[in-house]
Amino acid sequence: MNPHPANQKTENVPRLDGKELPGMQHKYRETVLFFPSEGQYCHAFCTYCFRWAQFTSVGSSQTFKSGNGEQLRDYLVRTPQVKDVLFTGGDPMVMSPEVLSSYLEPLIEGPGAPQNLDTIRIGSKSLAWWPYKYTTDPEAKDILALFEHVVRSGKQLAFQAHFSHPRELEHPVAQQAIRNVRMTGAQIRGQAPLIRHVNDSPEIWRDMWNLQVKLGIIPYYMFVERDTGASHYWNVPLARAHEIFSEAYSGLAGTARTVRGPSMSASPGKVGVIGTDTIAGEKVFLLQFWQARDPKWIGRVFLAKYDPHATWLSDLTPAFGDKEFFFESRYREIVEMTKEGSSGQLLT
Ligand SMILES: *Cc1c(COP(=O)(O)O)cnc(C)c1O
Repeated sequence: MNPHPANQKTENVPRLDGKELPGMQHKYRETVLFFPSEGQYCHAFCTYCFRWAQFTSVGSSQTFKSGNGEQLRDYLVRTPQVKDVLFTGGDPMVMSPEVLSSYLEPLIEGPGAPQNLDTIRIGSKSLAWWPYKYTTDPEAKDILALFEHVVRSGKQLAFQAHFSHPRELEHPVAQQAIRNVRMTGAQIRGQAPLIRHVNDSPEIWRDMWNLQVKLGIIPYYMFVERDTGASHYWNVPLARAHEIFSEAYSGLAGTARTVRGPSMSASPGKVGVIGTDTIAGEKVFLLQFWQARDPKWIGRVFLAKYDPHATWLSDLTPAFGDKEFFFESRYREIVEMTKEGSSGQLLT
């Protein structure tokens, strides 16, 4: 069991005046992750969850969390390259409207609010697992009013909604919740991991993305199951993952082709599997950085030797007998800089 895959504990830590900030991660230049203390549990208990250390008994030493919304604001103000903050957990939507508001308010109101911040994202499974939060719960009205208030402030409010299966979108209460959230002006993007035994077929993903578009959700990411937890049971080989993605994608209208996948959240960045091919007699995977510790890597395509059993970037070796992938020496440099107390994500 690997509680924090992709070196999150050591390589993503933001600092202010030389001091490490708890409950935040800053890996990609434009986006900061924030883990509010009261949001470190979830409506769902997905046995494949890569955040399991946040809300199981491994102990509080393994939990990312912060109760300090002012510190988040100060970091954002002092780090002008950040455009986007993502509230995550656990699930931030387990919080009451009052508590959620205490975190959001400093980011949108008053002279101290970060002008550089364009978007507040909330990563949540609640639209699938507790849609009543936005329909009949006593706090539903206050939650929706808070969302509308954020939108009226001029910043974008966007849900990163975890939907793993079309079945979760078929429930009439889920559909009502989605409408209610969208009516506040908030956007909803759909993302999920590809999980063997649960959603490992192209039909499931095609049906899910089509239904998302019909409901006004923007299909966003198909993730590869991470190298954490009981991944040997859930993971799908990259070759099969790419087949499932491509078959599903080819059956979509253009409006649903906003989705990218399969995507690995690995230490150097988010790496997409964009194809397989035979080049100069060698069968290869075509890979692409969609996010990267060094922004210069973004969009760059690189090749790995085809391996039908590989399930993660670390299983792959460079094509054509190359010793290393193009990014590896630079990545080592960045890790060294991080150890010395400078932040790799501040690279320009
Ligand atoms: C996925 C991820 C993000 C957000 O990436 P987007 O491509 O902007 O959705 C931010 N930080 C970390 C550490 C991530 O893994």
